[in-house]
Amino acid sequence: MNPIRVTVWNEYRHERTEEAVARVYPEGIHNCIAAFLREAGFAVRTATLDEPEHGLTQEVLDDTDVLFWWGHMAHGEVKDEIVERVYRRVMDGMGMVVLHSGHASKIMQKLMGTNSGELKWREIGEKEILWAVSPSHPILRGLPEKIVIEHEEMYGEFFNIPDPDELVLISWFGGGNVFRSGLCYKRGLGKLFYFRPGHESFPIYYQKEVKQILINAANWASPAQLPTITTGHTPQPIVEPAR
Ligand code: ZN
Repeated sequence: MNPIRVTVWNEYRHERTEEAVARVYPEGIHNCIAAFLREAGFAVRTATLDEPEHGLTQEVLDDTDVLFWWGHMAHGEVKDEIVERVYRRVMDGMGMVVLHSGHASKIMQKLMGTNSGELKWREIGEKEILWAVSPSHPILRGLPEKIVIEHEEMYGEFFNIPDPDELVLISWFGGGNVFRSGLCYKRGLGKLFYFRPGHESFPIYYQKEVKQILINAANWASPAQLPTITTGHTPQPIVEPAR
């Protein structure tokens, strides 16, 4: 079987402008994620904001089963025509894994149909505990029911986002806030997983449980099993109509 084709998209600005972030992700967040996905057997490419067409040409998207998205400080610089192009591919079945601050990206807002940028946040490096609330979900395969991240940015409810089709993980933070941290949505023929952790100044994407969740999410979101779908006027009956 052909490997699942993953494109890891990163805005790639913090790592080039902030020394503290560059120390955590010297090759950029995208290359960190790409490396462990590659090791897990996926066919992985990366794309970044400052490449022509943000690295997301029609050819690249047509050759992508699952698109990972990390963005934060430059959501507004993502061109609307590229957002539309990604949106069309999701409607046609491409999977998406939206990470951390990607909740406020143009593509997430378009896919959610709401202003999903609204939430509480605080950056004091407090402890986060992720709890499995759907333990049999394929995204949690091989994982414990409780995942501790020692230092993270806090995101707190209320998170203004449509109710997910499946709620997989919730977070507790040391400061007492809670958050829906692992959310599954179907949009068109595509599947989307939103995963909260991943602030740029903490080494979140090196943690083994986080890697496993993202590997599982790539498998889950892949449209590899998608049958050919037809719609519209259907002149030929599937069986002989009863008379
Ligand atoms: Zn952050």
